[in-house]
Amino acid sequence: MPDLDDGSTETDTFPETPLSPGALRQALDARLAEVPGWHSPGDPVRLGFAMTAPHPLALDALERFTARNANNVGVHTRFGGGTHGTRRLEREAVLALGGLLRADSVDGYVTGGANEGTLAGLRIGRNALRAAGAREVVVLASALTHHSVAKAAEILDIEPRLCPAGPSWLLEPETVRAELAALAARPGRTGVIVVSTAGYYNTGLVDPVDRIGDVLREHAASGGGLPLFHHVDAAHGGMILPFTDPDVAFDFRHPFVHSVVLDPHKSGLMPYSCGVFLCRKGLLGHGAVPAPMSGFVDETITGSRSGAMAAALWSLVFGVAAEGYREVFRAALDVRDRLAGAVRAADPDAVLLPAPGNPVLVAGFSRDGGRLPAELAARYRLVGNKLPWTAPDGRVEERLFYHFYAMPHLTREHVDGFRTALVDALADRPEPAAAPAARRPAPDLPDALRNLRRDSVCLRHVVVHPPGRRDPDGYPHAYSFHTFQDRAGLGEELRARPWTGDGGRPGLYVYAPDLDAPFANELFGVTDPERYALEVLDRNQQKLSLVGAAHFALFGPGRRTPDRPLLLANFHADGVLRSVEYKYGDRRLADEVQVFADALVVKVGKDGRSVRRTGDDYSFSLDTSLELRVRLTDDAAPPEVVRVARHADPALPRRRHLLRGQYHRFPNRFFDVIVDLSVGRRFRGATTAAGLGLHDGRLLARSAGWDLVRVEPSYADGALEVRLAAVGGTGGCVFRVPLGLGAHLPALLPGVPVGDPERLDPADVVGWAARLHPVAEALREAARTRDGGLRRLSAPGAPS
Ligand SMILES: *Cc1c(COP(=O)(O)O)cnc(C)c1O
Repeated sequence: MPDLDDGSTETDTFPETPLSPGALRQALDARLAEVPGWHSPGDPVRLGFAMTAPHPLALDALERFTARNANNVGVHTRFGGGTHGTRRLEREAVLALGGLLRADSVDGYVTGGANEGTLAGLRIGRNALRAAGAREVVVLASALTHHSVAKAAEILDIEPRLCPAGPSWLLEPETVRAELAALAARPGRTGVIVVSTAGYYNTGLVDPVDRIGDVLREHAASGGGLPLFHHVDAAHGGMILPFTDPDVAFDFRHPFVHSVVLDPHKSGLMPYSCGVFLCRKGLLGHGAVPAPMSGFVDETITGSRSGAMAAALWSLVFGVAAEGYREVFRAALDVRDRLAGAVRAADPDAVLLPAPGNPVLVAGFSRDGGRLPAELAARYRLVGNKLPWTAPDGRVEERLFYHFYAMPHLTREHVDGFRTALVDALADRPEPAAAPAARRPAPDLPDALRNLRRDSVCLRHVVVHPPGRRDPDGYPHAYSFHTFQDRAGLGEELRARPWTGDGGRPGLYVYAPDLDAPFANELFGVTDPERYALEVLDRNQQKLSLVGAAHFALFGPGRRTPDRPLLLANFHADGVLRSVEYKYGDRRLADEVQVFADALVVKVGKDGRSVRRTGDDYSFSLDTSLELRVRLTDDAAPPEVVRVARHADPALPRRRHLLRGQYHRFPNRFFDVIVDLSVGRRFRGATTAAGLGLHDGRLLARSAGWDLVRVEPSYADGALEVRLAAVGGTGGCVFRVPLGLGAHLPALLPGVPVGDPERLDPADVVGWAARLHPVAEALREAARTRDGGLRRLSAPGAPS
C-alpha cells in the first residue's frame, strides 16, 4: 500500500484477470474477520455508538429481494403509485411510520439515512420559504445539533445559525423566540427553517418540539412577518420514543411540524443504509424536478433506490410491529439502568443523566477532569464531549461527559463486564502529580536560545505515530518527516547550554530535550543560532525517518533574503551524505531542489503549513504542487519522460488539512503533479521542454515564489534546467543543476556515523558541524539567485 510507505496515495491498476474462487473467498473471509460481529463474547462492545445488530427478518427480506434488483426510484405515496412489488412495500411501510408519528397524512420515502432525510427536509423548506417570498433563508438550530444539519445548510447554501447550547442542552423555546425577533428586524424578508431534535446524538435528550411549534405558530398567527418551516431530526429517538414514552410530542401531532427524518438503521433494527423522510402533504412538490427522458417527476435527493431495502423495512414494520419494538426498547431501558448502576459503583460522585425514554446514559466522571483511561475508552468505543454544565455553586462551565448507548444487542453480561472494567480502571488512580517545576535555562544564553521551544531556528523532524506507540519496531506504520515548521507551533521542550568543550568557540551551543542523555531522546543538536545547526536523531527517529539520520541546516548569518536559499544536508546513519536541499522561500512554503547522487528532484510549492499538534499527536500534510524527479543513470542515455501523474489540478485552490483528531488519518504527502524523468549523467546534448513533450502550458504548478507558474524542464550543457514562469504575470526563475553535482557532493560533505547515537561524543558532533559549515556556506553562496532569476547550483571542483 503506497499510502503506508510514504503517505501518498495513488490508484491501483484495475485487475486484468479474475481471482480464482478460492483466492477471492480467502481475501473476503480475511476482511470479514476484521469486521466485528455482535453476538459472540469476543465481539467488541460499542457502548459509545448508537448502532446494533440488524434484525434477522430484515436480512432475510433483503437477501430475497436483492436478487430481483428492483429500483424504487421516485416517491410512492403519491398519485396512486406504489401498487405493486417493492414500491407497494415502501408505500405501506412509509404510511405506517407516518401513523407512528401521528400524522393524518404524509408523503415520504426511504433514504440512505438521516443525513439525506435532513437534506431533503431543508431543501423543501428552503424552496417553500422562497416560494413564500423569503429572500434569505436561515437554519436555526442548537449548536448540539447533528452535523448533518450544518452539512445540509452548506449544500443548500443557506445560513446556519446555531444557538449556543445552554445548560439544558436543548433548543429552548425562549431562544427560538428571541432569534425570530432578531431575524424579523433584518431588512428584507428572511425565511427561517427551525430544526428540532428528538434524541440528540450526544445526550439522547429531546427538544420540546411542541413548545417550539407553539412559538412558531404564535409568530405566524400574530403576523410576525417571517415565513417559517419546522423540521425534526428524529434520527435517534423517532423509532424509540413512540414505544417507550408515547406522550413525548416530538412529531406530526403538532401542526407546526412540517417534516421529520427517521433512521431505521440506527434505532429501528435495520441494516445500513436506511433512513426515512416524511413530510406533510403538499410539500414534496417544492423539491420536484421533471425527468422528461424517464417520464416521471423526481422528488427525491438520490434517484435510483433499493427496492430490497424497502422490503426489509416493511418486514420489520409488519413483522416486529409495535409489540416487538416496545419489548426491545423496554429491555434496552432496563439495561441502561443497569449501566447507570455500573457507573455509580465505579464512581459514586459521577453525574448521571439518563435521557427520558431513550436508552442513553450521559455520565460526567468526578476525577481527572472527567476523562476515562484511554485504554478503557478505546476498548468500549466511548466518546466524550465537552458540554455546558451548571456547577453546584451556580456557575456554568464546560464539563466532559461520556455517552453510553444501551442498544438492543447489549446484554446484562456485557454491562457486568463493563462494570468490572470500569471499577478496575477508576480504582486507586493516583491524583495527578503536580507538574514538575520548569527548569530554567542557564542565565547566559542569548535571546535566540532562551526559549528554544519558541524560537529555534532549526528545522524540525516531525514524528507521527499513534499515541503511546513511539517504538517503530512495535509499530512500523509510523512516520518521521522533515518539515519547515519551526518549533513554535509544536511546543516541544528543548534545553540548551553553551558549548565550552573541545572545538568550542564563543557563540556555539548544544541542545537536547535531555542534556544528561543527549542522544537517547529525540535529538541532539549543536547550533550557532545565527548561522547553522546540526541535529542527530535518536534511534527511534532514525528508524522512522524518511530523510536521513542527521541534518545540517544553514540559515545565517542574519536574516535570509529571498534570493538566498536555506541549505540542508541530510546524512544516512552510516555517515554517507544522502542529499543536499536548496530551499527558496520561507520556512513553511518553498520551491526547492534536492540533489542526490543518483537523482535530482525539483519541488515546486512544497507546503508544510498544515503541521499541527494535539497532545503528543501530530497531524500534517506536506503538499507539493509539482514534483519533478530526474533519475540519473551512469551513462550518456538521452532524456526520457517516464511518466506524468496528474493527481490534482493546480489551478484550483485546495483546502487546508484538518487536525488529525478531526481527521482520523495518518499524515499525507500530497502532490498535484508528479513528473518522472530519466537521463544519463554524461548526457551532453540539448533538449527543450517541447522536445520532451512537456512544452509550454502543459505543466502548471503553484509555486512559493510566483503562485501559478508554467514549469518547463530542459537540458543543455550537461545540466538540467527547470524554468518557472508566472502565468498571467511577470517573474519566475530558472533552476540550473549540473547532472554530475550529486555524485560529487558526498566527497565534499563527509559525515560521521550516527547509527549508534548513545555512543556518540558531543565533541565529535560539534567538530563535524564546524567542518560542514564553510562548505555549506560555499554551496549556498553559489546558488544565490542572479539576474534574470537564474539559480545555478554548483560546487567547487564539481562539473558545472
Ligand atoms: C445518527 C444521527 C444522524 C445522522 O444519521 P445518518 O444515518 O448517519 O445519516 C442525524 N441526526 C441524529 C440526531 C443522529 O443521531
